[in-house]
Amino acid sequence: MSTEMEESESAAHVLLLPFPAQGHITPMLSLAQLLCHAGIHVTFLSTEHNHRLLTQRRALSARFPTLHFESIPDALPPDQAPTIHSLHDISSSLRSVTKPLLRDLLITLAKKDDESYRSTTIRCPPLSCVIIDGIMCFAIDVAEEVGIPVLALRTVSACSFWCYSCIPDLIQQGQLPFQDQDMDHPIRDIPGMEALLRRRDLPSFCRMPIDHPSFKFFMEQIEAITRVSAIIFNTFDDLDPLILPQIATRFHKIYTLGPLHALLKSRVGDDLSSSVSSLRHEDRRCMAWLDSQQSGSVIFVSFGSLAKLSRVQLLEFWHGLINSGKPFLWVVRSDMLSSGQEERATPVELEDGTKERGYIAEWVPQEEVLAHKAVGGFWTHSGWNSTIEGIWAGVPMLCWPQLVDQQVNSRWVGEGWKIGLDMKDTCDRSTVEKMVRALMEEGDQREQIFKSVDNFAKLARHAVSEDGSSYKNLEKLIEDLNEKIV
Ligand code: UDP
Repeated sequence: MSTEMEESESAAHVLLLPFPAQGHITPMLSLAQLLCHAGIHVTFLSTEHNHRLLTQRRALSARFPTLHFESIPDALPPDQAPTIHSLHDISSSLRSVTKPLLRDLLITLAKKDDESYRSTTIRCPPLSCVIIDGIMCFAIDVAEEVGIPVLALRTVSACSFWCYSCIPDLIQQGQLPFQDQDMDHPIRDIPGMEALLRRRDLPSFCRMPIDHPSFKFFMEQIEAITRVSAIIFNTFDDLDPLILPQIATRFHKIYTLGPLHALLKSRVGDDLSSSVSSLRHEDRRCMAWLDSQQSGSVIFVSFGSLAKLSRVQLLEFWHGLINSGKPFLWVVRSDMLSSGQEERATPVELEDGTKERGYIAEWVPQEEVLAHKAVGGFWTHSGWNSTIEGIWAGVPMLCWPQLVDQQVNSRWVGEGWKIGLDMKDTCDRSTVEKMVRALMEEGDQREQIFKSVDNFAKLARHAVSEDGSSYKNLEKLIEDLNEKIV
């Protein structure tokens, strides 16, 4: 009995704090499961609305006895989806409402002898570490104050993160704000990225005035993250061999664990689907529709959980898709139209004209869709989860980036890794038609792209296998957390 008690006292207990958006919750929840699978206690702290959605399904709690879901208020409307313009408001609300409550919670969880807490929850050891989302930096102050080590999971790509880190240098060199409107002007001063970047490929907030609240929000995050003990990335070493060493020049401890969703499957097994982290209801009928399509014929179109389109853009995309002649599965969220235009998310012509060759869904099981043999191309907004899921599935991509890191990712997809085409900043129907055809039709261009993405898919498989870098880095992270040396 006493040995059991001692073991429990010495085990690691980590609090995970995701940013309240789908693209941040999914990788954080994968990390939570990986840590719990290794016997670590995890408190997964979500804002109230997301907590309700995540805990409605009991599969995870039943499977991982050391996974504890907790909630914290954020004072935001329940259905507020973050946008680049609302980031500042969300951040202010988290700071004013959530921050003091987080301090109280950390103090309680860190106490070795707090019977009141431990008698009301499953017995778990005192809190030994906090892993925050890389843009929840207010939590660094709190963890420092309470005296608990803090790590960050950065849910963006390594190339975007490195770009962010170098933005203060670009400002100092006078490259930001842009002096004129030439968006093709090369950016040559980010080490490791000299040959690739143009102004239009920099994170989207670089297009804002530098005194804009959203620009300031990102600058604060860039500054604050230098204070964490280590950073975890959802990438693998063979994907970013030039960028990771650059990051290591400024951040002494990094763990690359990607693709996290694949590492989870490799370590824990295949029987829990990605649906456990989904905040929306999935339309699974699309899988039957895919079954009825020819192998490699369908272009899957999904712009993630946050992107907004104007009605004009939506119709240009639709005409382009129809004119390309390719079957398509398109995720059109009911909240996808820009504000003031949401009286009807899918215009009538879109629904009518789709019947023959397309399937429109509100939300789909994306990982499963990408793995389906009918899917031959992925038109994406280049969110990092979508991109790494596309790489894992070996599916060539067409990129239409909109927000923040997506601008950098799409450049890497198009010109860095050469696993797709970048359609950045254009969306007229003839460009869409041309690019969908180029992506989907036999020819040298598709063959090159396919070869390249297939190669990265194989490297990703190696990364999450027992000899692979992500697998070994996870072992190291678990060891460091257990020995409390992070
Ligand atoms: N996703 C999904 N079903 C959909 C659309 C998206 O499950 O119909 C998932 C997708 O697999 C990814 C996440 O939502 O894991 C979106 O994250 P990403 O970083 O790509 O974009 P964001 O939503 O943050 O812009």
